[in-house]
Amino acid sequence: MSVTESLNTIRKELEGTSAKLVAVSKTKPNDLIMEANDAGQRVFGENKVQELVEKQVVLPKDIEWHMIGHLQRNKVKYIAPFVHLIHGVDTVKLLKEINKEGKKNDRVIPCLLQIHIAAEETKFGFSINEIEEFLASDLLDELTSISIVGLMGMATNTTDEAQVRSEFSGLKSLFDHLKSTYSRPQLDLKDISMGMSGDYRIAVEERSTMVRIGSTIFGARDYSGK
Ligand SMILES: *Cc1c(COP(=O)(O)O)cnc(C)c1O
Repeated sequence: MSVTESLNTIRKELEGTSAKLVAVSKTKPNDLIMEANDAGQRVFGENKVQELVEKQVVLPKDIEWHMIGHLQRNKVKYIAPFVHLIHGVDTVKLLKEINKEGKKNDRVIPCLLQIHIAAEETKFGFSINEIEEFLASDLLDELTSISIVGLMGMATNTTDEAQVRSEFSGLKSLFDHLKSTYSRPQLDLKDISMGMSGDYRIAVEERSTMVRIGSTIFGARDYSGK
């Protein structure tokens, strides 16, 4: 299937659900991104700062670029002027850095806090206790150049659907709990970013509002020689 065909198939599937599509274009060339752009897709996700910046410079300016991967503090400055949403904010230190760069650029940068929902040790994110402690702290009042617009989570990479579903439904419950418990400036909980090519159908059933889909649209990634 072509990029256009795959995109249209996924769009049709998402029609009438709560989920918006982030097309994950990491490692993919600009001509494929332009094909998706020509087919009407405007929201793209990348997970490497350098690649994101290189693409943003040359591709159409109405594209909304989402940073979806692990973000290092010393690289925030490169994306701060234009990034539409940062999905994987996993420490308070990183959030402070984003705030600093937001201020420099005279803008408020929307962020999702990444929650550790998977059984695997390797996935980044806040624990539930950490997030509650942070949302109750005075520190949040000082971060006037960020807006926390939701949560992001990655499920365990497993074929056990019941496990994936329970991780996603746990994230949705946490979202509902936080939304009803904390009313703070800089806190505007709207989005739950969950679901990738392998598990987005389950994520959508569990009320994801943003699915991050790469290989199903653009084909498998080739990391050889990189
Ligand atoms: C690569 C990536 C995706 C997309 O993965 P696919 O399996 O290709 O859909 C989603 N989220 C994050 C954080 C990623 O790094």
